[in-house]
Amino acid sequence: MDIHEYQAKEILHRFGVPIPRGALAYSPEQAAYRSREIGGDKWVVKAQVHSGGRGEAGGVKVCDSDTEIRDFSGQLFGRKLVTRQTGERGKLVGRVYVEEALAIAQELYLGLVLDRASERIMVVASAQGGMEIEELSEEHPDAILRMTIDPATGFLEYQARELAFGLGLDSSQVAQAAKVFRACYRAFRDLDATMVEINPLIVTQQGDLVALDAKMSFDDNALFRRNEIAELRDMSQEDPLESHAADRGLSYVSLDGNIGCMINGAGLAMATMDMIKLMGGAPANFLDIGGGASPERVLTAFRTVLTDPKVEAILVNIFAGINRCDWIAEGVVQAFEKAEIKVPVIVRLSGTNVEEGRRILEESQLPVATADTLAEAAEKAVAAVSRSQAA
Ligand code: ADP
Ligand code: MG
Repeated sequence: MDIHEYQAKEILHRFGVPIPRGALAYSPEQAAYRSREIGGDKWVVKAQVHSGGRGEAGGVKVCDSDTEIRDFSGQLFGRKLVTRQTGERGKLVGRVYVEEALAIAQELYLGLVLDRASERIMVVASAQGGMEIEELSEEHPDAILRMTIDPATGFLEYQARELAFGLGLDSSQVAQAAKVFRACYRAFRDLDATMVEINPLIVTQQGDLVALDAKMSFDDNALFRRNEIAELRDMSQEDPLESHAADRGLSYVSLDGNIGCMINGAGLAMATMDMIKLMGGAPANFLDIGGGASPERVLTAFRTVLTDPKVEAILVNIFAGINRCDWIAEGVVQAFEKAEIKVPVIVRLSGTNVEEGRRILEESQLPVATADTLAEAAEKAVAAVSRSQAA
């Protein structure tokens, strides 16, 4: 789960990371009012969306009057901000953050991620902040420092100082940097985060270290024990279909093509999408119905896939181990009775109770195309889409 910049800043501040003075607004008037509360004569107005790259997309602006703040936030509210990370659909701006503008002497990069190879939290830092880490690793791979942290000892003071010295910081800033690094580590560990990023972490012209931006993501599987984090969820930033499915215990991923896929298991999902591509088609999404899917669950899955207007055919590919093909077939029959299906449906069943499953589909006399192999199913789905497009 992702959260907003202002939420991440609030959390990191609690752990001891210095942040600029700032406040949240839900309307242009409130944004202008916030700047008076903050004081000073220069502010930065920042669109709150779950994405980086807001600056270059026009979602961040330095303002020096009430009027400018009101006008700029007026343009942001209700708009879909398209950044290089959001995809063309963009993300809705419903909140803006107003912050004092600081005079920047240097921009650093700081990121903490889970390094699966070493099974540890890895701290990534660079003296070349401001640009995205992907860009940085292409353009200045040597300017990136990495350190993995032993969970038994935690992030020790001397390691944090070593990292800070590695960034070429002044001795007066090393202690501040070490404090920020260790605070981020504790926040990551204590809150079941999967990512913490401060980009840029700045040195101000007065020589202080301040987090000018902040991003955090959390492990969905740990949210049950992190109520204070779960409460920060902002549904307006999520793909509505993906959250709809997740709330029903189905995992659904939205893609750009036109073939809806219902599959059990992530591996089979990958294989199915590869096969569709190989046959010249493109998946609109995939929905993993998981193991032990009841007919009701299959019906819910159909309803979810059908809500996506891009879907021009549905491919059901089940390799039943824990699942039962007869239940899946029952679910398909129910879906035809209860959900409005106007697109071709192709079903490939294999595994437990497959004969029974096929019999149910045959006897139902529904317009369902069946297939014995994955290749055949994908081919039929792609052909069905081109037929309906030709018609
Ligand atoms: P994003 O990474 O989504 O583009 P940032 O929060 O990093 O958004 O802001 C983009 C840029 O705007 C920063 O790199 C920084 O140069 C400038 N900026 C952001 N906040 C402030 C601030 N409080 N004072 C001065 N400049 C800022
Ligand atoms: Mg940033």
